[in-house]
Amino acid sequence: MRLGVHLPLKGGFAANLKRVKNYGCETIQIFAGNPTAWKMAAPNHEEINKRVSLARELSVYPVVIHSAYLINLASRSPDFHEKSISLLDETMMRASLYGAPYVVLHVGNHGGAGIEPGLEQVVATISRSLPGWPDGVKLLLENTAGGGTALGSSLEELAHVLNSFPKGTLGVCLDTAHGWAAGYDFGSAEGVKEFLEQFERCMGLENLCVLHMNDAKVARGSRVDRHEHIGLGQIGVDGFRELLRQSWAPEMPAILETPEMGSDWDRRNLEALRSLLQV
Ligand SMILES: [Zn+2]
Ligand SMILES: [Zn+2]
Repeated sequence: MRLGVHLPLKGGFAANLKRVKNYGCETIQIFAGNPTAWKMAAPNHEEINKRVSLARELSVYPVVIHSAYLINLASRSPDFHEKSISLLDETMMRASLYGAPYVVLHVGNHGGAGIEPGLEQVVATISRSLPGWPDGVKLLLENTAGGGTALGSSLEELAHVLNSFPKGTLGVCLDTAHGWAAGYDFGSAEGVKEFLEQFERCMGLENLCVLHMNDAKVARGSRVDRHEHIGLGQIGVDGFRELLRQSWAPEMPAILETPEMGSDWDRRNLEALRSLLQV
């Protein structure tokens, strides 16, 4: 298990990476471009190569790419759908330039069409795009809080998409705050054990590739996505301790996406996770 943070690009990649490295950050997640824009600027190969070298030099790995929030593979609007496909394709290519093994994607919003048709459209879209994606980059479906018509808040929905492809094609990124908001009990050791057993039955735990370690400001089952610093939210530390202490692969990233990124909270949250891992 490697502990890390979502690294903001504001303030400079190098400066931010050196700062979090000082706090013992071992892995990072970044946006490949502006997360709220449809178009990505053309890749600056020199800058990307510098970033890759620095991460290698500081032994920060793996690099995880989070895709833009705008992408909705379940969109009913042909225009949004096409734009979503192009941006995801571009993100997969960009991840390859970073040597990043994973791109994290929110499954999508069905917009009223219903869960089943929404999931089917997501599967069909991924099937079509897959052949064009670079080798060595895997798409990870992130569980959602399930607000509105968001897909992928339950293990069954994630499994529906994941199991539509040959084993190992896709993976899952588990966000604790989203899971909590969707009703899963990440607040107790028992709850976490039960969740992981259910995950194993639905998809197999070998498909769980990245953890997003976030406490939640909101009540369990509220379907609202509000991250909080570790130990200060509604989830509390017992579940985090249990989740961290599973026998994960040595390179499994556990990444913080808590508010006030770029401040001292990165250090405090990393220390909080490390203490739970060790005690
Ligand atoms: Zn996310
Ligand atoms: Zn997340």
